[in-house]
Amino acid sequence: MSATNPSGGPLVDGPADPEHDPRASYALEPDDVRRLTGRVLASGGETTPVSSPLNGQPLAHVPQSSTADVRDAVARARRAQETWARTPVAERAAVLLRLHDLVLDRQAEICDLVGLESGKARKDAFLEVAHVALTARYYARTAEDHLATRRVPGMFPGLTHVELNRVPKGVVGIISPWNYPFTMALCDGLPALAAGNAVVIKPDAQTMLTALLGAELLEQAGLPRDLWQVVAGPGKDIGPPLIEGSDYICFTGSTATGRLIASQCADRLIGCSLELGGKNPLLVLRDADLEKAAEGATRAAFSNAGQLCVSTERFYVADQVYDRFVERFVARTEAMTLGSTLDWSVDMGPLISQQQLDTVTTHVEDAVSKGARLLTGGRPRPDLGPYFYEPTILEGVTPEMTCFGHETFGPVVALYRFHDEADAVARANQGDYGLNASIYSQDGRRARQIAREIRCGTVNINEGFGATFGTLAAPMGGMRQSGMGRRQGSEGILRYTETQSVGTQRGLRIGPSFGLDQEQYAAVMTASLRVLKKLGRA
Ligand code: NAD
Repeated sequence: MSATNPSGGPLVDGPADPEHDPRASYALEPDDVRRLTGRVLASGGETTPVSSPLNGQPLAHVPQSSTADVRDAVARARRAQETWARTPVAERAAVLLRLHDLVLDRQAEICDLVGLESGKARKDAFLEVAHVALTARYYARTAEDHLATRRVPGMFPGLTHVELNRVPKGVVGIISPWNYPFTMALCDGLPALAAGNAVVIKPDAQTMLTALLGAELLEQAGLPRDLWQVVAGPGKDIGPPLIEGSDYICFTGSTATGRLIASQCADRLIGCSLELGGKNPLLVLRDADLEKAAEGATRAAFSNAGQLCVSTERFYVADQVYDRFVERFVARTEAMTLGSTLDWSVDMGPLISQQQLDTVTTHVEDAVSKGARLLTGGRPRPDLGPYFYEPTILEGVTPEMTCFGHETFGPVVALYRFHDEADAVARANQGDYGLNASIYSQDGRRARQIAREIRCGTVNINEGFGATFGTLAAPMGGMRQSGMGRRQGSEGILRYTETQSVGTQRGLRIGPSFGLDQEQYAAVMTASLRVLKKLGRA
């Protein structure tokens, strides 16, 4: 895979310079495009363009799947899964370990494509590479343990032998978003494969090429091709046949779409996990290390231009340190470099699309028109590329402003003061979301106590989101309107299995024997239940 930038240089924010021309064109090699788009299961001739947010220019035309194509993909996946389910877990895990190495070896190519399709800064693209490698290693090394058949105490000790098997669901349908296109296309599917399932994935239309590269890498790691099918098309058209054919759905995206998916899964009585939106709070306590808090705040708020489900949009800062924190946070934000480039030289790239730019612009204009104060940012930057918006810090945001409670999903945050910690926790818990929260404090014990009072699926102390997101043993997901179910950890793989209980009764049957009648049997049972309780049995 090679991407070329004919202007020959990065496009960083700075003085006018022909090398920093946002209209520079990035092109993919036609052979690479053909190879990748050839993986979409699509029988008609219809295509849809994918453009680069770096400059708005088209990168490729992606074939579109029909309803019949989706059914075909599910049928192929189902056939392949029968053999895969009987493949030893160690062999399945070996594919994941090979993927781990491939992803690290080919990170330059992956980061180029992620950068081209999503516009994100290379450091954010690298996070995707690292997260896929971490996920592949974690599930490769732990799948056998998670999936092992376990014994549980039987009804009658010594007489009832019960084992729990983990049976794969079958075909897992994945519907993924554009914001972390490489990790979102792979990381939910890896535990599904490890558990013996096949996957049919519908990535977001804006980032199809990255998802297709993920599929190619899986095949190169030794996964039989039919076990991982990629379909393309509008969610409203190909979502329903995917849900109709699958045995489980893993969805990541907005809360509105998640609700729709959940109701379609309910109609079929299949399970689903939903990783949805957030309006994530970050608390700066009065004993926080303010340099660390300000550095963490810029990453928490502006990684991937704020287009990250776990990124921070609300800051609650203790009165005693408010001014000193704000001064540092604003200074660090203003020092960020913005630009369109595939190299490592910028901190933040553009938003993904005009739609995202419109949302961000509207949220800021609405807040400012109702009295919010801009501490920095607050402007689109068409001079850098079509969808750029400056990292923006607001003060004085009130409940009637849209960005008070609605997710912006962009580089816009609001700062609030608090007087006492109980009040900060209460405000952090306001609203319908409960995805991620962060606490900055030098008293780790106190911060962990406060974490228990916050209604979010993850809480990161002295870090924005990386401590939990990067720890694969830590389940991740949302409370309340932020989702159902968890990715990562044991929950991230067990969701793709059914529990099968196998009980073997030995010796005495479960019913009267030795000539006892029902009443006498009930009396014996009553006595034995009392004894078992006294013995401390579960
Ligand atoms: P979205 O819900 O519009 O789209 C997400 C995916 O769903 C895309 O693949 C899209 O094509 C598909 N889709 C859309 N309508 C559908 C339908 N009717 N049936 C089936 N599929 C459909 O979300 P978006 O706005 O593109 O993504 C941003 C949102 O995703 C944000 O709210 C963000 O917080 C959330 N997100 C959450 C996580 C998480 O892990 N919790 C991660 C990334 C993004």
